[in-house]
Amino acid sequence: MNGSTPDPRKIDSYTESVRGRFEDRLGHMVEIPTVSMDPAYKADIERGAQAAAMLLRECGASYAEVVPTSGNPVVVGEFKAGNSYPTLTIYNHMDVQPAQEPEWKQEPFKFRKEDGRYFGRGSTDDKGPGITALFAAKYAADNGIRLNIRFLWELEEEIGSPHFEEFIKNRLPSLGTDSVLVSDTIWLSAERPAIPYGLRGLKPARLQLRTGGKDAHSGLTGGAARNPVGELAQVISRLYDAGTGKVFIPGFYKDVAKPSAAEIKSFLASGFNLKKFMTAHELKSLRTTNPREVMLRIWASPTFEVHGIAGGYTGPGVKTVVPPWAEAKVSMRLVPKQDPKKVFGLLKAAVKKINKDVEVIEESGLAPYLGPFTGPYADAAREAVNFGFGASPAFIREGGSIGAVVTMQKHLKAPIMFIGLSLPEHGYHAPNENYDWGQASGGMKTFVAYFTRAAGMK
Ligand SMILES: [Zn+2]
Repeated sequence: MNGSTPDPRKIDSYTESVRGRFEDRLGHMVEIPTVSMDPAYKADIERGAQAAAMLLRECGASYAEVVPTSGNPVVVGEFKAGNSYPTLTIYNHMDVQPAQEPEWKQEPFKFRKEDGRYFGRGSTDDKGPGITALFAAKYAADNGIRLNIRFLWELEEEIGSPHFEEFIKNRLPSLGTDSVLVSDTIWLSAERPAIPYGLRGLKPARLQLRTGGKDAHSGLTGGAARNPVGELAQVISRLYDAGTGKVFIPGFYKDVAKPSAAEIKSFLASGFNLKKFMTAHELKSLRTTNPREVMLRIWASPTFEVHGIAGGYTGPGVKTVVPPWAEAKVSMRLVPKQDPKKVFGLLKAAVKKINKDVEVIEESGLAPYLGPFTGPYADAAREAVNFGFGASPAFIREGGSIGAVVTMQKHLKAPIMFIGLSLPEHGYHAPNENYDWGQASGGMKTFVAYFTRAAGMK
């Protein structure tokens, strides 16, 4: 079967035959609220990890194990074909975003099935794609595809993977792999699959300024008293131009690796649609309306962002106080060759130069990622998506960050490919999150085709 094309009708009849079981298992996982951001869900994280390991075993994995870390556990499972065959590692995460949005039309952790659509938090990010890959692995094992398929299911992705590196380092000798497949990304549209090969990094920080002990009366002290909210606003305005987005921090752009001509060509051929982009994110207007410029900005350029400013009076009307403190929550999205530690140093130096009293507090960051978008694995991914969905994928970069990917690149030293199954309308990190049978069945077909190709590559 190595190197050949799988039989599409055989896979179609397989997917139809497992549909009920797939829905049942997805429902079971969605109903365990594995929210990693909130410590109140710690017991559900444990329960989710055990249920995930059970699911792997039940689908025929040769072994499945819940591996503890100093944070949340990682679930490892493997379908073993034999030591002489290549190994593919598939990464997904089983933790989810919180679900407090008022727009939910249902209980977020109650699984609901409606016309082939599956509602509930975590259905598309990332439990649905993970279970899709698992059902494809079961097909591969039952049909003699000569590939060892190992699953790594993380439970801290939504909080930046703080203990994933600890897990990888501890288990390194047993994690040797020929390649890695990540299924945790979004298509450009329902008609246009996307294979991202680059991710931005992230460096968040807090800027704090205290100039007094309590609220002061602006009539009695105003004019002489310093105003920390105003001073932080002044600092921010000297760190970047909010109109254009240009960053003024000295040295900020120095290490930026510009995208190659071939990459820009691939961006332009991606079918990115500015109107759909604005509608999907409910943006009323943008800093630029040139689609090429927008793609370069969101996929391949670094940013400075202000997420919030706290301090002073925020109730109804105007209370005329001079506030004693203020805090700005900021972050920088980083692109290849920029180093989060180094960029934080540049930010701190720039802030101190503008206002020496501002404290710059470091938050943990993520390095940017850049992988190949040509070569045998990229060809295999392109052909597999075409086989599964009858549509050609666009090779693009993604503006977000997946911390685990950088860790796997560093320690596993194997090529990484991204085949995501989520659609923009699936409500990723949003209310009424959903996944659908079309993406699940097409995804199983895609993965089987990819496994068949990977079995011939060593
Ligand atoms: Zn995700």
